[in-house]
Amino acid sequence: MKQVAVLTSGGDAPGMNAAIRAVIRCGVAKGWGMYGVRKGYAGLISGNISPMGTRDVGGIIHKGGTILGSARCQEFLTDAGRRKAIRTLRQMGIDTLVVIGGNGSQTGNYELHQLGFPVVGIASTIDNDLCGSEITIGVDTALNIALEAIDRLKVTASSHQRAFLLEVMGRKCGYIALMSGIAGGAEYILIPEVETDPEEVAETLRLAYEHGKAHAIIVVAEGAKYNADALIHFFEKHEDRLGFKIRATILGHVQRGGAPGAFDRLLASRLGNGAIEAIDRGEFGVLVGLNKGKITTTPLEEVVGKTKEISQEMVKLAQILD
Ligand code: ATP
Repeated sequence: MKQVAVLTSGGDAPGMNAAIRAVIRCGVAKGWGMYGVRKGYAGLISGNISPMGTRDVGGIIHKGGTILGSARCQEFLTDAGRRKAIRTLRQMGIDTLVVIGGNGSQTGNYELHQLGFPVVGIASTIDNDLCGSEITIGVDTALNIALEAIDRLKVTASSHQRAFLLEVMGRKCGYIALMSGIAGGAEYILIPEVETDPEEVAETLRLAYEHGKAHAIIVVAEGAKYNADALIHFFEKHEDRLGFKIRATILGHVQRGGAPGAFDRLLASRLGNGAIEAIDRGEFGVLVGLNKGKITTTPLEEVVGKTKEISQEMVKLAQILD
């Protein structure tokens, strides 16, 4: 009988709870012993681990965040920390670990795999920068939250004939900014992957007003060279010349906390089941993801140390549509 522990690590993402629920319930259905690790890798090191059954994951599928908690654990970045984690797992009789998380979390997971501990990863981050899954848990919900913010800002922008800037999350990846910007009909989208001249942004705004537009929305990724702060600074400095003001809204963590939408709940349920099936097949050191509509496994060594590239097709589309 297998003994499997699950943890969530890194930034929380809407749908993580649905993934925990699926891992626990699919594991229980196989007759395995299932455990939850609290506070990510920190809980692995300190032994904050307890058995979990079907009822322990009841009533959570609709909740954002993670009932297991998450943490950014410095000690786990050291070899000693990781060996301590493995010792804790072995002492508790746990033979497999499932890690639900993004790039950093899966890098840590790969380190455990290299130390000989059987692991499986589940692709979960709102940034969608993780290789091995076309889309990750939390992206769709975060995108919809960003989109709602754009739609709301548009209403205010139209009433006041003002330009609004919305900064969205995504670390070094412009995925959320690009997709929400396209879906929200933004006038300009700034992402880290594309070099942008703020003069060009100003020119776009000027043309928008000249053409009689009642509003102008600029979506900017937090990781872009000209993020909200830098752009506001630029517009303030050149206000006399440009002739208009711009207001900024930084969406920040609001983007993470939403209740997961149908897509994320279903994706998380499928990936959770996919992780248990991978373990059942004896397939370890892999990331479970969604590719071309199918649940797939990709060796962690092909996932870590890379960042998923932004779709050039979507970048071009944004340039045509804005
Ligand atoms: P997100 O991008 O959604 O915030 P993430 O999984 O990328 O999620 P990180 O903060 O990068 O979040 O990583 C989470 C944790 O994983 C870290 O606090 C650390 O404990 C562990 N981790 C990150 N990078 C490494 C690494 N290179 N080696 C070992 N462990 C790591």
